[in-house]
Amino acid sequence: MRYLSTRGTSIETGIVPALESGLAPDGGLYLPERLPEFAPGDFAGHHDPAAVCTHLLAPFFAESPLAGALPALCTEAFGQPLLLDRLRGAGDFVLELFHGPTAAFKDIGARFLAAALSTLRRPGDPMQTILVATSGDTGGAVAAAFHRRAGFRVVILYPRFGVSPRQAQQLGAFADNVQALSVNGTFDDCQRMAKAALGDANLRARLRLGTANSISLGRLLPQAAYYAWASLEHWRASGAPLSFVVPTGNLGNALAALLAKRMGLPIARIVLACNANDTLPRFFSGQPYAPQPSRATLANAMDVGAPSNFERLRALYPNDDAIRADLSAIAVEDDEIRGTLTTARARHGIEPCPHTACALNVLERLRSQGDVGAWCIVATAHPAKFPEIVEPAFGHAVAAPAALARLLEQPSRSWPMEPDLRALQTRLLAAT
Ligand SMILES: *Cc1c(COP(=O)(O)O)cnc(C)c1O
Repeated sequence: MRYLSTRGTSIETGIVPALESGLAPDGGLYLPERLPEFAPGDFAGHHDPAAVCTHLLAPFFAESPLAGALPALCTEAFGQPLLLDRLRGAGDFVLELFHGPTAAFKDIGARFLAAALSTLRRPGDPMQTILVATSGDTGGAVAAAFHRRAGFRVVILYPRFGVSPRQAQQLGAFADNVQALSVNGTFDDCQRMAKAALGDANLRARLRLGTANSISLGRLLPQAAYYAWASLEHWRASGAPLSFVVPTGNLGNALAALLAKRMGLPIARIVLACNANDTLPRFFSGQPYAPQPSRATLANAMDVGAPSNFERLRALYPNDDAIRADLSAIAVEDDEIRGTLTTARARHGIEPCPHTACALNVLERLRSQGDVGAWCIVATAHPAKFPEIVEPAFGHAVAAPAALARLLEQPSRSWPMEPDLRALQTRLLAAT
């Protein structure tokens, strides 16, 4: 399989360079030249998530140096339980993706990517720096995935006032080969700095720089596998396709759902649940695409005003109206998130994180509009990551899962930084 840049220039590459560089040389994002096509029956005998992932991703890795390692990579990515559960309402489901080391869905993609890059390393290769901008959960997942892997260091950029105290504690708790930089700016500043550093020829000449942001194909592709798995589970039990409501920020998770659908998995509809950062809901309501500065909300991992994967979405369709015909997006304001957190247990039988609450709120709206069919909300993080938000709404304390609890007990350290590329360059070069 060959990979092309979304910017439409003639850059074409294999999966390995696409995974290693993250961004195409023209500044675009990589997409496969075509999507393989599957029918549900093609997955006969592939039941657990790692097996579904291996079968789904085989065409993407065919004839690459990673082809033989693919089953091991999928086993590592899905080394955590994946749960598809019923909610209280008829036809309502939840897909829980937060049973990994940092209790957010990003663990799955990050572990796949880390395992892939580790597999590609040869003795004597220079150290590779993984640069990652985070609105909270990416940094932790990437740090956990690369923590103590020989030959790698992780540099995390996070907005000082844009992550929860518990997220900040977690980001600084890894130590060893992980450095957390607390940027005096927004997530968009962090993302811009990371992109600029990755595109800086001078820096790249002196450092082996890679990224593990949600633009990396190494995260996007394995994420398609949990949609494949969940839709197949549902298909096998009921013979009907499953629709998904996906909490959405940078559009990585939702794009993975779309890829699974376009590859022929039994997925009916995909609805994006956004927070008050309504760039996508505005676009889907018919307005031109207009990125905005990000705003702080209760669902902070979705505080994105310029979703980086939008470029991929556009590259997959002939025009904007075709995108609008296939997907939709709904904004959920903070007071609605609070309301849903408060009533979720009684109405649905779960206690969601604020991001998952956006999806639950959207599900309620779809049902109240008379939508029938099987709908699955995607639960992207464990509520214990956001105690200051969820505990007042639930009316009780939420215990952290064991892996997260261990991290929260570690001492935490971060380095302050201004939102300025020069400062980042200096730090990256100084600390090699
Ligand atoms: C990152 C994140 C999201 C948003 O996912 P995208 O792939 O950026 O759209 C939603 N919820 C949680 C908990 C996250 O960490």
